[in-house]
Order: sequence, then structure tokens, then C-alpha cells
Amino acid sequence: MAANVIIGAQWGDEGKGKVVDLYTEFADIVVRFQGGNNAGHTLVVQKDGVPQKTVLHLIPSGILHSDKTCVIAHGVVVDPEILIQEIDALRLRGYLERDEQLLIAEDASIIMPYHRVLDTLREAATGEEQMDSVGRGIGPCYEDKVGRRSIFVRDLLDEARLVERVRATLPEKNALLQWYGHAPLDFNQVIDDLLDCAPRIAPFVGNANRFVHEAISRGRNILFEGAQGTMLDVSLGTYPFVTASHTTSAGACVGAGVAPARIDGTIGITKAYCSRVGAGPFPTGLDDEIGQHLRDSGKEYSSTGRARRCGWIDVAALRYAARVNGFTGLAVTKLDVLSGLDNVKICVGYRDPGGNEYSEPILDPEVLATFEPIYEVLPGWREDISDVRVLEELPAAARHFLSCLQTLLEVPIALVSVGPKRSETIVVQNIYR
Ligand code: GDP
Repeated sequence: MAANVIIGAQWGDEGKGKVVDLYTEFADIVVRFQGGNNAGHTLVVQKDGVPQKTVLHLIPSGILHSDKTCVIAHGVVVDPEILIQEIDALRLRGYLERDEQLLIAEDASIIMPYHRVLDTLREAATGEEQMDSVGRGIGPCYEDKVGRRSIFVRDLLDEARLVERVRATLPEKNALLQWYGHAPLDFNQVIDDLLDCAPRIAPFVGNANRFVHEAISRGRNILFEGAQGTMLDVSLGTYPFVTASHTTSAGACVGAGVAPARIDGTIGITKAYCSRVGAGPFPTGLDDEIGQHLRDSGKEYSSTGRARRCGWIDVAALRYAARVNGFTGLAVTKLDVLSGLDNVKICVGYRDPGGNEYSEPILDPEVLATFEPIYEVLPGWREDISDVRVLEELPAAARHFLSCLQTLLEVPIALVSVGPKRSETIVVQNIYR
């Protein structure tokens, strides 16, 4: 029996979807604790013998198992329309037959229509693609939470209160929208749209914090599913190139209301190399044919088709991630992508222009951008490893690579992924014993 947190150890896109799916099998309860519909799982499941694709951005993939409960905790920001779309898509495919399979925290903040519009307008004004993907309103919603202007799921279920809350917030938002040259939103339309959503969401709303607490007390297996990655944490990442929430393990405590001592383990997911979307410093990024090899072989293109920057694994950044998250285990994904290279490199630290050495990143992006990686060069391997299921059968060079990671980070490897399929996995240690 255990409560485990699964965290992206890098800049997101570590392959969390696959690892979370694997661990979900052992969990009774899967909890999202931060972010919003900027995460995502594309699930291909057999239904009546036919493969069916389901895309979920908000609801954990555990919802495909009828015997598990999925929780959207108060640390998540909820777009009611997206939530309803996901519920409808699941029901259409015969999933989520019982309302009890999904619990939405009554005190989760709602993404309001003005959050989405503001997000789009700001994006257009700066010309920069932000972390949270265009127009989803996640950043502006978290801003309002910190600014004590949140409208909560529970407000949605109480018309008088909703009217009062929207009346208090909308004039300022409309002034902002007009400053950006956008038409103001109509008060009655905003209220009507939200009230339309309310009865669809109501059956799932409850006290998620207490539910999770009681589940832990009863010794249930809990999986806290992180989204994005450590270096994108609003406080612990390379600000301002970060997302709006706490993506680190402490985010599970704050975002689901769980005391740190109730958490048994934290698994950090890292690719065997590194990638980064959008702007921001990336010390091990490669502009050469090796970067291209990683991009092609790892299919490192975003859903919008944008190429991700790729480079060698950055153990200095991972050392920091292991420290701030307290990793008890590592899941190394996409090891197969390194196959076919003469040498593989591990960044073990950085050197600044003055020759000073660092074992962890400096978070100031301007400083980090001046750092040169210090590499340890290891022999590569040429074999296709996607059929390997036990560590001992990996090529010696691949084993050496993993053992270097483990030694440098002082964190045991719990799982190695050697291909996108569920079966293409080496399980070293079962975190749910
Ligand atoms: P996430 O947001 O952290 O889940 O990461 P992405 O959405 O970028 O997913 C990673 C992609 O890599 C998905 O298309 C997975 O199917 C794929 N993937 C996951 N693990 C492996 C692996 O071990 N090897 C390969 N080749 N692909 C993988």
C-alpha cells in the first residue's frame, strides 16, 4: 500500500503518459493536483476488439478502469466546458458509467471565459508562445487565484453566489479586454453559459481533500499524477520560462491537501536525453545532426507540429530535480532513441565564462544561458533494444549509461522504457509492491 507521486523531472514531455498508465494499473485512486487542460494523454484502447483513440487533457487516464477513482483536486484549474466534453467523450465510448468514478474538488478554481480570451490576447501581444499553450486560460486563472479573485466549482452550483462573484470580477476583466482592443463580455451570457454547465458537473463535485485523506488512512494505493516538468515549476523552474503551477512533488501536498509525511515515494520521469519546447535556456541543446537524430528517432514534435529542441541528458538539472522533489526512484524513458550512436554524453555539470564549475543549474535564465555543459562521454550502442525486458539483456554500454545515471543522481532506477508500447518496458522495481 503506498501513496506515490509521479513527476516530470525535466522540461515536460518526458513520456509521463506511458509511465502513469503503467502505474495506474496498481493504483486504486489517481489524483491530478496541478495544471489544467494543458496536460494530455492520448490513449489507444481496445473496445469491442476495435482500437479506439481517446484524448484526455484533464481527467486522469485511470478513468478507463471502472474500478478506480479519479480525482481532480483543488490545485487544478478546471475549464467546465472541456470537462464536460471529456465526460461526454468517455460516456460515448462506454466509460465512466458510474458518477463515483470521478471526483472534482468543490474548491478547484474555474477557468472563466475571460481567462481564455486574455490568454490569447496576451499571447498575440507578446508574439511569444507561452508554456501553457495558446488560449486555454490556465495562466490567467492561476493569477486570479493568487489575486483572491477565483471563482470556484462550488460557486458554479449556487446561482446567487455565482452572480455575485461574476458581478465583482467582470468589470475589471472587461476593462482589460477593451485595453487589448477586444469587445467586453456580456454579463448575462457569461452567467448563462456557466449555469448550463453546472448540472452536468454537479454529480461529480465533492470534498476531494477529505476523500484523498481517508483513502490514504485506509491504506489504498494512490497515484498523484504530475503534469509538465520540474524545470517548469512556477517557483522552482527557470522563471519566467515556466508554467503557472507547482509541478514538483510539493505541488501534490498543496494541490491535493496531503501532508508531506503521508507520501511514500516520488518517481521522477526523465528521458534518456533532453528536449525543450519554446524559449528559455537549454544548456545541452544540440543544433547538429545528433540533435536531429534525437528529434527524428524520438518523434520530438509537438501536437502543433513544432520541432522540439533536443540534446544530451542533463544530470546537473536532474540532480536539482532529484533534490527538490526528493525522488525515491527514476523512470528512464526513450532509452531506445539513443540506439545507433557511436557515443552518448551525460552533462555532469556546467562551466561559466569565468571558468567556475557548477553541479546544479542557476535558475536565472540569463546566467544559465552563458553556461557550457561539462560532459562525460560514454560508449554508445547500435542494437535495437525495444525487445529487451530485463536489464541484464541490455547491451553493456546501455547498462553502463543507466548505472552512471543512478550513481550520479544517487537515485535507484525503478523503470526503463524502451519503446512507446506498454509492453516495451523494463520494470526494475514495483513501487506498489
Ligand atoms: P508526456 O506529455 O510526458 O506524456 O510526453 P509526450 O506527450 O511528449 O509523450 C512522449 C511520446 O513518446 C509519446 O508519443 C509516447 O508514445 C512516446 N514514448 C513514451 N515512451 C517511449 C519510449 O520509451 N520510447 C519511444 N520511442 N517512445 C516513447
